[in-house]
Amino acid sequence: MSLRHLKPLRVAVAALCLTVLTLAFLGAHLPHPLISLFASLQFVPTLIALATGSLALGAIIILVVTLTAGRIYCSAICPLGILQDAIARITSLFRRKPFFLRYAPAWTKVRHLFFWTTLLTIPLGGAGLAIAWLDPYSTFGRTVSLLIRPLIRFAHNAIVPHAEKAHVTGLYHLDIALAALPLLLGVGAVFLLIVVMASLRGRLYCNTLCPVGTLLGFIASRSWLRLKINADACGKCGECLKSCKAQCIDLKAGTVDASRCVSCYNCLAACDQGAMRLATNWTVSRTTKPSDATQPPDSGRRQFLLTATGGALVTGATLLPDISRADDHEKKHGDGHGKKRKYKNVVTPPIAGDTDTFLAHCTACQLCISSCTTGVLQPAFLQYGPQHLLKPRMDYSKAFCNYTCHRCTEICPTGAIPFLPVPQKQITRIGMAHFNKENCIVSVYHTDCGACSEHCPTKAVHMVPYEGGLVIPEVDKSLCIGCGACEFACPADDKAILVHGAPKEKLARRPSEEKPTAPTVNKDGFPF
Ligand code: SF4
Ligand code: SF4
Ligand code: SF4
Repeated sequence: MSLRHLKPLRVAVAALCLTVLTLAFLGAHLPHPLISLFASLQFVPTLIALATGSLALGAIIILVVTLTAGRIYCSAICPLGILQDAIARITSLFRRKPFFLRYAPAWTKVRHLFFWTTLLTIPLGGAGLAIAWLDPYSTFGRTVSLLIRPLIRFAHNAIVPHAEKAHVTGLYHLDIALAALPLLLGVGAVFLLIVVMASLRGRLYCNTLCPVGTLLGFIASRSWLRLKINADACGKCGECLKSCKAQCIDLKAGTVDASRCVSCYNCLAACDQGAMRLATNWTVSRTTKPSDATQPPDSGRRQFLLTATGGALVTGATLLPDISRADDHEKKHGDGHGKKRKYKNVVTPPIAGDTDTFLAHCTACQLCISSCTTGVLQPAFLQYGPQHLLKPRMDYSKAFCNYTCHRCTEICPTGAIPFLPVPQKQITRIGMAHFNKENCIVSVYHTDCGACSEHCPTKAVHMVPYEGGLVIPEVDKSLCIGCGACEFACPADDKAILVHGAPKEKLARRPSEEKPTAPTVNKDGFPF
């Protein structure tokens, strides 16, 4: 295979990766092994998964590949990197005049500042603000899930009435759950920044703000294989410069900055003279200055220490105290339909462990939220505290957790939601139902109801004798798993049954006498 074939090969892998991950974050029902394959090759999630006992195979593969042949991850596997290439290509179609990138020096201080800010945040605050907002995979997930997915659903819903008029069947109205406005503005601002940087400066984002890009760049600057310009064959035509999205080819000096090169191999395909080639580090050290071969242009020790100090200061400012954790305060959340509901604690996705461990490992990528089969998982606003924006929480005003589903436990790439087989998930308690007789239809209107009991899959809510021959709900706390089916089904305006999170006992008794029945949601989103 000629070196010129490396570019089409890279483009094919990148297109496959981008397609699978985009569909996954749009909520398409892809087989979970396919999603997991690409999600498990993402650097930050697999590194975090190490803390949950996983092998971190994806991170090890990426490190070995980078040490061997440079930042192939950045051009073929990282969805945010590939998205930037797509944005640059699309925006170039709208330019009146031809536009080419040129060599530009590295933004070393900015690069180190963002890298150290992220790194120092990890031991201090887990997957807190910095890592969650700078991890490229999670940034991509949030963009697709929170911005693009609702837009596609709006467009779909706009088409439905016209399709019905034209007697086209099979299209129906889709629910659109928008995140809180400040969150949408935040995610939108990050995306806008990426669009501007990608369209004007190619991979500038990857070579300044992205901490993964900086780390892999540092390793790539010592990689075994790297691009080299053969000065004898080079006619200085500049075709390689025009094709370089990382602006890292210095034709005057005859060098390629390996720490910024994203190994896209565009330059290999663009060079007609065969002057651009892949060479081993040993070859480079024989033909270039020793400093070029062993040192990245931006690896000055003094600068590195300076930016580390700056990063520490920024980190201190980033780590806001956990002042509004729902564990400590009663929270009121509107259900979007009038009455506010008062919860003691936030209900997490199905996890057997504690909330703090879950929050420390979650990067708010939104994969579980996009994949949730009922739509009960929603991005949090301040419910977990200001440093845990957008992490998944159960929203029983939208839906409830399906008793027979364990989808989110299958696909979380960081292990924040560890895998739970269905029988285990069915006794894992994430919340506890609390019944308030004052709001119950039976006691207020002296009439039959029992919707909560009817939809409880474990029969933790059961009906007991009440006044005038009526029956009223009662909760058997040993059976309740906190799935929210009762709360979602309760027809009272001011819900008579609410599920609070963070239960002390995480294992419920397995229902044995009656065969459990899983409630189903009808087309209008109501379980009966
Ligand atoms: S819990 Fe959900 S949002 Fe958090 S890392 Fe896992 S899949 Fe992503
Ligand atoms: S287990 Fe529950 S929360 Fe998780 S995807 Fe299924 S329905 Fe959604
Ligand atoms: S009582 Fe409510 S929250 Fe508990 S298991 Fe039954 S339906 Fe789920």
